[in-house]
Amino acid sequence: MKRRRKRIEDIALQRIERLFELAEVEARKTDAKERSRSDRYVRLAREIGMRYRVRIPSHLKMRFCNGCYAFLIPGENARVRLRSDYITTTCLRCGKQMRRPYKAPRAPSPRKIQISSTESQMGNRD
Ligand SMILES: [Zn+2]
Repeated sequence: MKRRRKRIEDIALQRIERLFELAEVEARKTDAKERSRSDRYVRLAREIGMRYRVRIPSHLKMRFCNGCYAFLIPGENARVRLRSDYITTTCLRCGKQMRRPYKAPRAPSPRKIQISSTESQMGNRD
């Protein structure tokens, strides 16, 4: 069962990556019709991620707009500005701003701590 879930995740992830590749190709075209196809690919990729509960890889997450799902190309339809502790990406189509912190060490989530502590407890029982 567990192995099957992993395989589905892998396939979902591959599809997401592929859709983003296609979205980029279409986004670079000047024809408006093809650009709207690009939006659709981004939307599909998000839907696959939600349906199979797969996270969109972080390198792709910053490549689309959270407001209108446009594939963002810096200098084309996105403005990227570096601030002291975060990066702002502005979608030039809908004006939505997205902030992303620079790689900062993140505190482990409380849930993860709980899991690892129960694991060690189980180990102690042996
Ligand atoms: Zn937008």
